[in-house]
Amino acid sequence: MRVVMTDRDVMERVGSLLERAVIAIEPDEEWYKTAFAVTVRGLAAVRLMVKTRPALGAFRQAQIDAALHDWGTSRVRWDYEGIACAAGGCAREAVTQGLCKSHYNRWYKANRRGSSAAFQPRPLSRADVLQEPQSHSITPDCGVSWLAGLLEGEGSFWRAFSRGHAYPVVKLEMCSKDVVERAAALIGVTTVREQKPRDPAWSATHIAQVSGAAAATWMQRLRPLMGERRRSAIDLALDDYYPERLPVAPAHCVVPGCEGPPRGRGLCHKHYMSWSRDRAKGRVPRVKPLRSN
Ligand SMILES: [Zn+2]
Ligand SMILES: [Zn+2]
Ligand SMILES: [Zn+2]
Repeated sequence: MRVVMTDRDVMERVGSLLERAVIAIEPDEEWYKTAFAVTVRGLAAVRLMVKTRPALGAFRQAQIDAALHDWGTSRVRWDYEGIACAAGGCAREAVTQGLCKSHYNRWYKANRRGSSAAFQPRPLSRADVLQEPQSHSITPDCGVSWLAGLLEGEGSFWRAFSRGHAYPVVKLEMCSKDVVERAAALIGVTTVREQKPRDPAWSATHIAQVSGAAAATWMQRLRPLMGERRRSAIDLALDDYYPERLPVAPAHCVVPGCEGPPRGRGLCHKHYMSWSRDRAKGRVPRVKPLRSN
């Protein structure tokens, strides 16, 4: 399993989540900018596929099913990373046959003496690894996180102009219709548009798009989760929009979910301080004020 992107900050986040190194790929014909890649192989890749499969669209699920179809059928050596020893009450990590080193030795010696241990090995099997994870309770944040990840890869944030007014637009365009439809339902968009390809050999894409006030709300909500490049695009779109549409001060801090009273730039004291600290350090601020210029 491999992820490649030109956004270094996004890939560093992927690398730390997956506990893998980020490798820089120098530009060539395919990539005109330096790209960054994170690769997960072997058993860890299988575990990742099994874990993420329920959240993916039909196309990716079919890819995973094909990749795992014959996987592990003749495997005898398993990696017990993160799996506890099968002996009751033992908290150590399993190493061999589902047992920790000391329990495995005790079991092995007991077996040789012809007696039996109070515990048995519990070797991992293919079915254990391919077992779908138990679903956790889904909160609205799960959907927003899923959407942020999707838009980081396939979305665009920009400002459009109409009769001299700028307004923000959030757009998702990709081939997988089911994924676009799921995103559209989350965003609250009722129509998914189909875009015929320029070249008939390519496949059609599907588009979900939201603009104006609804786009501004989504931009505010998604902004803290996005990488630097997306955050800058969001700031550009919102800066042109808010001065025209918000003649009066907001009732509370403009950071989504914050109820603090606004002090400066539509932010409460805490968020204003965070914004100005980031600016002073030359970072793209994590918090988006009403106006950043
Ligand atoms: Zn043990
Ligand atoms: Zn969740
Ligand atoms: Zn606040």
